[in-house]
Amino acid sequence: MSDVMDVRSEYIRARWAFIDGPRMVSLLRYLGATDEDFEQLKLVSEQLESDPTLPFRKSRNGRICLDPQTRRGYRLEAQPFVLSREEDFVRHDSETLRTFDEVQDDLQLNTALQAMLVFKFLVVHGVDVAHRPRLDYDRAEWICTLFNLRTVTTTGLLGEPALEGVHSDGVDHTMTTFLSARNMTADSAETFLHDMREVNGRRWHETDPTLLKGRARHGDFLDTLMVVDHEYKHSVSPVYPIDDTEPAIRDMLIFFTRKPTEKGHVSFRYDSVAPHRALPMSFGLPADLPALATAN
Ligand code: FE
Repeated sequence: MSDVMDVRSEYIRARWAFIDGPRMVSLLRYLGATDEDFEQLKLVSEQLESDPTLPFRKSRNGRICLDPQTRRGYRLEAQPFVLSREEDFVRHDSETLRTFDEVQDDLQLNTALQAMLVFKFLVVHGVDVAHRPRLDYDRAEWICTLFNLRTVTTTGLLGEPALEGVHSDGVDHTMTTFLSARNMTADSAETFLHDMREVNGRRWHETDPTLLKGRARHGDFLDTLMVVDHEYKHSVSPVYPIDDTEPAIRDMLIFFTRKPTEKGHVSFRYDSVAPHRALPMSFGLPADLPALATAN
């Protein structure tokens, strides 16, 4: 547990943290992940089929509530997904209600995935962050939207992990975890963290170097980046192929975590905390939460 607290301390200090894959493996194993499920996690993205708005991407998502009062995490019923310009997300599909294929049991019942949710909870719960408008910081629960994403570059179609350029994810805490890649160059898909004054929509290579606050590249299984989403903006460079006659593929898990919305928020009508009936899932959260909440 002390290593989780080390990550938490670093996250509180720098407002972001990069945890390399081997360290994540040992942290997640401590939190209940099995070796078999680590191996399964590398394959889960093969089940991705489509994306509602992006031709170079395949995706699924699912919502999970992390409730410190009951000390449970549980799968929430499906709702459409939307991000707005007001949340620093400027893209052709801003304000568009998007319905993704749903995360299935192969991912949500994976012990490594559940350990990632517990890990993120332990790092972020009780951390004081810049507040977003119309999120209810008096509520105890966290709403986590999990995305399993495959970005694919093919001849004539460049795969962009962040087509929107400089942006934020509209949440309090973003966590991105690398699963695998095929035929991808070693300089592909680097993440850049920008001061909040950087201009939304700028391409990763058009940004102001004086506003660049950090950079990280996911290259190994479970390499993980965590960012306080309303304190840094971010951008990501494209996925480039090594052999340009073959597709280049990058598989990721993305965890968006925020407080529940209030009336007037673009997601207010899509923020139910009812459990998912057809795809139920729940797991325990560690017990020493009061100590955590006051440790900040
Ligand atoms: Fe993002």
